[in-house]
Formats: sequence, structure tokens, C-alpha cells
Amino acid sequence: MGKPGIVEPVSDVLAWPIEDVPDAVGALEFLPLAAVVLDVHAGSGWANAAARALAPTPEGLTRLLRTVASSAAVADAEAKGAGASAVIRLATHRGVVEREVWAAPMPAGPDRPALVVATFPADLDVRTAGTADEESVGRLEAMLAHTVDIITVLDRDGKIVFSNAAAGALTGFTGDGVSGQAAFDFIHPDDVERAATAFVDALAQPGPSPSIELRLRFADGTWHDVDVVVNNLLDVATVDGLVVTLHEITDRKAAERLVADNAEKLRSLVENLTDVIVVLDGEFQVTYASPAIAKIIDAPPESNLGRSAFNDVHPEDLPAVIDALTTVAAAAAGSSVRVDLRLEESPGSGRWRWIDATAVNRLADTSVSGIVVTLRDVTEQRAAADELRAAYERERDASERLRELDRLKDAFLATVSHELRTPLSVIVGFSDLLERPNLEPAIAGEAVARIRACAAEMRGMVENLLAFSALEAGKVTVRPEAMVAVDLITTAVARLRPLLAEHDVAVDVPAGLVLVADPDAVEAVVRNLLTNAAKYSEAGSPILVRGREVDATVVLDFEDHGVGIDADQLDHIFERLYRAPGAAFAGRGTGVGLNAARRYTELMGGRLTVESMPGSGSVFTVTLPSAVASSR
Ligand code: ADP
Repeated sequence: MGKPGIVEPVSDVLAWPIEDVPDAVGALEFLPLAAVVLDVHAGSGWANAAARALAPTPEGLTRLLRTVASSAAVADAEAKGAGASAVIRLATHRGVVEREVWAAPMPAGPDRPALVVATFPADLDVRTAGTADEESVGRLEAMLAHTVDIITVLDRDGKIVFSNAAAGALTGFTGDGVSGQAAFDFIHPDDVERAATAFVDALAQPGPSPSIELRLRFADGTWHDVDVVVNNLLDVATVDGLVVTLHEITDRKAAERLVADNAEKLRSLVENLTDVIVVLDGEFQVTYASPAIAKIIDAPPESNLGRSAFNDVHPEDLPAVIDALTTVAAAAAGSSVRVDLRLEESPGSGRWRWIDATAVNRLADTSVSGIVVTLRDVTEQRAAADELRAAYERERDASERLRELDRLKDAFLATVSHELRTPLSVIVGFSDLLERPNLEPAIAGEAVARIRACAAEMRGMVENLLAFSALEAGKVTVRPEAMVAVDLITTAVARLRPLLAEHDVAVDVPAGLVLVADPDAVEAVVRNLLTNAAKYSEAGSPILVRGREVDATVVLDFEDHGVGIDADQLDHIFERLYRAPGAAFAGRGTGVGLNAARRYTELMGGRLTVESMPGSGSVFTVTLPSAVASSR
């Protein structure tokens, strides 16, 4: 060791065996500049007092020397053999600082290697290391006193060595009351294990460790949430401990818990709603569906995610749904639209549920970014409403029918009394005439014929009324039997002679035609058709009854050459109590005859139809089962 005063070993790693440095180097020791002398190739170096003050620990100084040695300034100086400078960043015990470094090469002497001398501003009062330390500690303490965080220094056993003023102010522990105590005594029992692990980790590595959250006991016994950062400064001689910064986060935690609570409440609210909430993106794809959707669509809620909103919609409702969604998506934020639609319970099931849907545009709202659709299943309500409507309609129809019947009854009573009175007056009048003495036989005969005709007419009317009321009451039963068609017609024509007297009635019915009918019912049918044929045609015009067998039926045509029936009346003449406008001029009637005739025919398994030409006559056709056919 040639010049021990000058070449001091500054670290264990970098023991500087520079045996033969120029004497001038000794002058560097007390420069107010930081100065280092580097043997770049040997990887060793020396630092003056100012440089050592920047990095008081051996590890720190090694780091600093390495940084300078690898700087561009040193490389340049070596390469060029001339002075060079560069700005470098240095880690010091005050933190990282930027410095401009000047480097100058020192050529090798006969007995020493080539060296580089690098200098840079220290900006530290380095007159004596002791003074510098005391000042920096003073500054540090002032700083610590004014922070809002609790700062405490622990030794490697976790004992409290130092706490700042804020610690006392915040926790309520006075002054040095906690010094010397174990820090873990203040930590919540449930958090101690985590804290211990973090402490062991922090011990293992210099510098700051990741923060952890703990509960800390204050002087009044209350627990407070704190965010803790441990900075291992055991290798910093002036600290020689673990600096623990505790930041109170009780309010933040409470707020977080509140938010979490509210979010949870909101979620459970949404999930337990009977209404279904569905969120769609701008392309109308499902991004969220609340669990209640399972009540509508027979699949787990997640299975709807990413699918088109139109998937399960009834084809008939699709245009309205597309229209509603495109409208609401294009409308201003917050606007809404309502639409009724059907959704299929599962694809192809054909089971549809009625949904009342409301869509709200929340696309611009960043917390939603979608169209929020509320679906309400109204299937049951709709069914109930439909049922109610149907019941109401049935009720209304029934009361309308009743009103109509009432009206018919009034009209009927008026007609019947009027229509009966007329032939009655005729009968009374001719009876009076007959009482006159010395009446000419011809006139008497005429009077008797007129009385007979009116009586026959009245009997027909009364029989029709009886038949009609029996049919209305549903009391008519028919007992069909085989009847010779021509006998049926000729008997009827004979009985109705007084009414048919003014007409030429021809009967063209083959003798072999046998039909199956109830004698009373079929007699009533034939009587009605014959009297109508006479009533609605002029005196002297012919009436023809034709018979034939067609496809196992007996067909009887009743043909007249009378007034005929307008096409628009044809459907109505078989209705109960219907009389064509203008029928009154042609003859008396009550409007029950044809209705009764058709109902009788149908009861016997037959049909009654009509063809007519207004002004030239009508053909009424009765079709009844043929006895020959049925006996075959
Ligand atoms: P009414 O007692 O009036 O004759 P019907 O039920 O027998 O009642 O006939 C209903 C209506 O049909 C008649 O009012 C008449 O207008 C029309 N009608 C029935 N038969 C004939 C016919 N042979 N020619 C023209 N009109 C007829």
C-alpha cells in the first residue's frame, strides 16, 4: 500500500488497490466536487469525500461508481484520449439525481495503469460528513411532521423505533408512547398473518415493497383501514430500518363497501324482478339478459347472449319489432318505445308468449352502452282479456237476438191479428148475406164458396202458426213413412180446392214415385208451396207440380207463373216472419210458411230450394229421400 491516505478502499467489493496514483489525486479528496478515479479495465475505483457523501453505504457507492464507469463521458475520454462530458442519472441516498459528468484520461505511467478521472457537482455540503447527516435528518423530520400519512420506522424485529407527528395526531397515541412496542400489536388479529408475510418479504429485499391493506387499532380502540407501504432502508446508514407509510383509507373502504352493497342490492333487484331486463348492443344483439327470461324462453339466460334480439320473435310481429328497435336506436338518448310481440318458448315449439316490451336508448350512457329492453309476460292477462271480450260478445249477441225476437213478436202479433181479421170479416159478411130471404141459389152458392175459401185460408194460417210455434219450441218430431208421391199431391190439391179455385193446377208426378216423409209435415210443406203459388200469381195462371226421381231422392217442383222473387230476396224468404216488400199487395200472409216448410223438410232429411225470375214466376223444389232407394 504505497499511499494509504489517498487510496482508501471504499467498498468491500471495490477494494481499490491503486498502488501508485499520482500525488495530485490526493488533492481530489476535499474538492467541493464529487470526484472518482477509475481503473476501467480492472473494474476498480476510488471516490472522494463529496462522492462518498452522496452514497454513504458501501453498496450505494459501488452502484454510483459503476454508473459513472459505464457513462458515455468515460467511454469517450478513453477512446479519444481527451476530456469528454455527458449527463448521467445517479442513485444517491437523496434519491436519483441528474448530473453532468466530466471525464479526463490519465495515461498509464511506467508502474500504474491508465486511469480516468471523472468529476461532477455534488451539491452537498461535504465539509464534514457528520454535519451533512445532521442537517438532512433535520430536514427529513420537518418533512415527516407535516405529512398526513403515518410514517413509522421499524427495526428488523418489527419494533417501532420512530413515528412522525402525524402518527400521534391520527392514532391518538401520545408521543413516544408506542416507541419500542411491537408494530404487530396494533394490527387486527385477522390481518396479522398477512402483515407478517409482507414484513418478511420486505426484509428480504431493499427498497419499497408492494402495498397491502390492513386494519389498525387506534388509541380509542377503534379499527381503521390503512394502506401500508414498507420501504426497506436497512442498508441506508442514516435510517437503518424499515420505513412504513400508513395511509388511512377507512372512508374509501366504507365507500367501496357501500358501492359494492348497492351494486349487490341492484343486482338482486334486477334478478328478482318479474319483468325481464335485456340489454342489446347497437346491432341488436343480446349483451345481458336477467334470470327471469327463463320464465319466457325455455333456455338458460346465458344462452341468449350474443344472439340477435329478433331470433324468437313471431314472424307476424317481426316488422313492428324491427321498426321499434331501429327507431329507438336512431332517436335521442333516453327515448323509449313500446311494442307488443310474441316470443316462442323454444325454437319450433309453436308455443308463443305475449310480451309487452319497452325499449330505452342508453347507447350513449357509458355505464350501459346499450338499448335496455323491459319485457313483461302478458300472456295470461291477454287470455283473460280475450275471454272477457268473447263473453261480452256472446252476451251482446244474445241480447241482440232477444231484442230482435221481441221486435219480431210485435210485428208478428200485428200481422197475424190483421191477417186473420180480413178473412173473418169476409166470413161474417157472407154469412149475413146467406140469412137474407129469397136469395138466389147462384149467389148463395158463391157466398158459401167464399166462406169456404176464407175458412181454408184461416185454417192454413192457424196451422202454420201452430207448426211454427212447435218448431220454435223444438217440440216437433217427425215419423217418416213411405208415401206415394202422386197421392200426396192430389190429396193436397183437392183439400186446397177453395184456395186454388182460380188457377189451373196440373200434376205431373209418376205413379211409381214413393218418398219417405212424415205425413203431417210433408202435407204442411206441400200446402204452403201450393197456396203461395196461387197467392203470388194472377188468377187464371197455371200451376204445375212435377215429380221425378234423382239419385235416390224424390224431387218435387212447384212451378208458378206469378210475380217471381227478386234475386236479393231469395236468401231471405226462408227466414222466419220474413215477407218480401210488396208481398202484401199479392195476398195475405204471416211470413211463417216458408220458414216452417224448410225446417220440416230438413227434419225429414230433405232440402227446400227456390229458383225464380222476377215477373215470370218461381219454381220451389222439395227433395226428399226416395222409399225405393231406402228399401233397396
Ligand atoms: P207469406 O205468409 O208472406 O206467404 P211465406 O213464408 O210463405 O210467407 O213466404 C215468404 C215470402 O216469400 C212471401 O211474403 C213472398 O214475398 C215470397 N214468396 C213465397 N212464395 C212465393 C211465390 N211462389 N212467388 C213469389 N213470391 C213468393
